[in-house]
Amino acid sequence: MKDCIFCKIIANEIPSEKLYEDKRMIIIRDISPKAAVHLLAIPKKHYADFSLLDAEAKAELGEIFFAIAQNAQRLGYGDGYRLIINKGLNGGQTVFHLHIHILGGQVLPFEKL
Ligand code: 5GP
Ligand code: ZN
Repeated sequence: MKDCIFCKIIANEIPSEKLYEDKRMIIIRDISPKAAVHLLAIPKKHYADFSLLDAEAKAELGEIFFAIAQNAQRLGYGDGYRLIINKGLNGGQTVFHLHIHILGGQVLPFEKL
């Protein structure tokens, strides 16, 4: 997708350290970390947000969650972590290419909304 920052990272048009990569996804560090370990799991296919999934995404998301779980120790969030998807403006989404935040590497506070 043109002008999508995550599509550009996936296509290596913007350099980034890919901590994990397979045919359907990458995991990178968030540029502005909100926890000791703050990673982003990003499907290679451009879904603008969590409401805009298709049939392929049904299977793909299972694989993505599986890879997040399998890589926890290696990527530093093995002692416990939180997965977050922000959907839409009210949900705090700022990059409109679906991604899953992985927060860990510390005891995470629970914040009141
Ligand atoms: P959202 O608010 O859409 O759920 O999350 C977008 C996240 O992407 C933010 O946490 C932000 O720090 C991160 N981000 C934005 N631009 C870049 C970038 O160019 N590289 C990386 N690694 N993260 C980015
Ligand atoms: Zn994209």
